[in-house]
Amino acid sequence: MHEMSIAMALVEQLQRIAAEQHATRITEVEVRCGVLRQVVPEALELAFCAASAETPAAGALLRVVEEGLRARCRACGQEFEAAIDNYLCPQCRMADVELLAGRDVVLQSVTCETEDRDRAP
Ligand SMILES: [Zn+2]
Repeated sequence: MHEMSIAMALVEQLQRIAAEQHATRITEVEVRCGVLRQVVPEALELAFCAASAETPAAGALLRVVEEGLRARCRACGQEFEAAIDNYLCPQCRMADVELLAGRDVVLQSVTCETEDRDRAP
């Protein structure tokens, strides 16, 4: 189950962000998962829940957004939505493409709570 390693990398990234932002708690996280990674959202949620325990991200709401495959044809420059088993350019029928999106897991947004240090006592 590769979701666990994705979740652990995610939590590591979140801990860094929390430290940088002086956040006490992370409440919401959105990740974009490229279809090529074949992430099962439920499995990632479970893994995230386990991996984030006792970190600022514990209990955060995880939103998983699936990202489709986008490709650009190297021959004619056409950009198109590719299928996981079909990379043919719809314009020139070449399969020499550059993938623009769909193969990465990207941390899209993070919502955190910070201590309000400027607040008057
Ligand atoms: Zn083409």
